[in-house]
Amino acid sequence: MPHRPIAVLDPHVANRIAAGEVIERPASAVKELVENSLDAGARRVEVEIRGGGKEYIRVTDDGHGIPRAEVPLAFERHATSKIAKAEDLFAVATLGFRGEALPSIAAVAEVEMRTRTPDQLEGTRYVIVAGVPKESGPVGTPVGTTVIVRRLFFNTPARYKFLRTDTTEKRYVADVVARLAMARPDVAFRLLADGRELLATPGDGRLASAVAAVYGHAVARDMVPIEFEADTITVQGLVGKPSLHHSTRERVAIFLNGRWIQSNAIARAIENGYDTLLPPRRFPVAVVHLTMDPRSVDVNVHPAKAEVRFRDDGAVFRTVLRAVRQGLLGANLVGGMPLAAAVPRPAAGPEEPRHSPRPEEERAHYPGEVAPLVAAARETPAPAAAGAAALAQHAREAGFTSEEIPPGDTVPARAPADVDARQVLREMTVLGQLHRTYILGETPAGLWIVDQHVAHERILYERFLKEAASGQARVQQLLMPMTMTLSPVQAGLVELFQDKLQQLGFVLEPFGGRTYLIRGVPAAFAAHDAGQIQGVLEDVLAACEAEGRWQPHQVCAQLACRAAVKAGQVLSERQMKQLLEELSQADNPFACPHGRPIVIEVPRAEIARRFGRH
Ligand code: ADP
Ligand code: MG
Repeated sequence: MPHRPIAVLDPHVANRIAAGEVIERPASAVKELVENSLDAGARRVEVEIRGGGKEYIRVTDDGHGIPRAEVPLAFERHATSKIAKAEDLFAVATLGFRGEALPSIAAVAEVEMRTRTPDQLEGTRYVIVAGVPKESGPVGTPVGTTVIVRRLFFNTPARYKFLRTDTTEKRYVADVVARLAMARPDVAFRLLADGRELLATPGDGRLASAVAAVYGHAVARDMVPIEFEADTITVQGLVGKPSLHHSTRERVAIFLNGRWIQSNAIARAIENGYDTLLPPRRFPVAVVHLTMDPRSVDVNVHPAKAEVRFRDDGAVFRTVLRAVRQGLLGANLVGGMPLAAAVPRPAAGPEEPRHSPRPEEERAHYPGEVAPLVAAARETPAPAAAGAAALAQHAREAGFTSEEIPPGDTVPARAPADVDARQVLREMTVLGQLHRTYILGETPAGLWIVDQHVAHERILYERFLKEAASGQARVQQLLMPMTMTLSPVQAGLVELFQDKLQQLGFVLEPFGGRTYLIRGVPAAFAAHDAGQIQGVLEDVLAACEAEGRWQPHQVCAQLACRAAVKAGQVLSERQMKQLLEELSQADNPFACPHGRPIVIEVPRAEIARRFGRH
């Protein structure tokens, strides 16, 4: 090809090329326009499309509008009211900031804008086609802005051809609006497609309302709130009960500082928060909002701004995981126990009828998978558990923190499969110990593998809780009292919690200064030496230090972990049987206090399949 002189592109051509980067399809135009509305402080945003948005898009808001003199500027490249200096780029608080959206859309469509600011009596109407201003003048219009986009890509046929069917484009638009609605529960959104209302959120500020509008009330009811803060990162949102699992990640929505983002790492952190509660290769429903200093993220990575980079990936990952884990634990979902057991019953009323599991719910395992039993157990609907998440919420609203919600032992609500599983634990034939860590048992349905440490931990955890509550801790008086010197903080906590410690079985006596005499310990620790006992006490105090008040569940979980048999410890057959017997009587035999599974099952059919038997 012969050389042609280098020339700067005509701005119209440049805009048309750049438009391809920012505006890929109707949904991207909708996203940009709605983000502008949100940046303008809108409380209501209405989106209307026809023909999947190819034919017609209208976005109307009640934001602050644009002064008449500035309207043409809004359509100029790199014209923005949102950042002035390069440094502002590091702390972008608004959604758009590149000043590219309006010129890009206007370059490839017919655009009409009507806008009015509160201090203007008349609004402005401005029409621009393929980047060329056509009309400008006054118009009667409410305060706010309406942008109408007609015939998107009419002058870029290659891009037009690339679009999918109206139905598919409509779905993309609906997805975008749904995400924006969940990003901003304080804004009322409405989406109309070919005259039909597809979505309407109330804008009441409650995420649950927005989620209910997007996914339906049934799903929203089955979601539990999460809230957690660490390392200056705040995580809030709603996560679905494990039973809401999906085959793709499309119902995992992540928002960073109010902006929808895509992040496989965070999606994985959410999934890890479920631990074994989700069947393999299934994904939860989750709407997760992250808030952090904008300077610790780089949102300016991709033109569509969906991808972000974090300064400290690890901290973000850990915080999200813990948020989800804690939320699920708080709702007592982990372990598949009857959920209603997590909350005190309001008043003695007639018991709800118990349903037996529906056939598809009896299909406990996914073929070809070694499914954790907990996942199987939760497939069975716990009868009294209807609206359990709501009940847990109720309890929280009534002023219970998740730590204060009494454990399951207060309510004898058990699903049939749960009863069966207990029986299996009692009756299975113990085959032996694997790697000095797991107990292997033959059951009619297959092979059960029980983690000895975690099982014992669960048994002791429940025992400690009950003993502490009833004040009947089994104490081992020490023949030779030990002395222990504490830090000032620890000494303060011991003073504060002396009674509670006594209820657990720690008999302490002040011995001058910060030194204490230990006269008795919980019987489970009788065999421990002084150093170990001090470690246990320090753990107990540490569990309460952050909150400055007694944390019975965390304390008992600490004690249980310390006192339980360890992995690597050889158990006799009698000890294994006793452990299984005690486990079968536990209130929640299927998850340790930290939410890890206690039992996994290798189904008989799976074993046969792998040997090629049919
Ligand atoms: P950016 O949003 O990146 O600044 P845009 O091209 O999307 O760039 O918009 C250009 C400017 O037009 C914005 O900075 C804003 O001042 C103004 N604007 C656009 N849409 C609206 C709206 N709906 N309400 C008020 N002002 C708007
Ligand atoms: Mg914008």
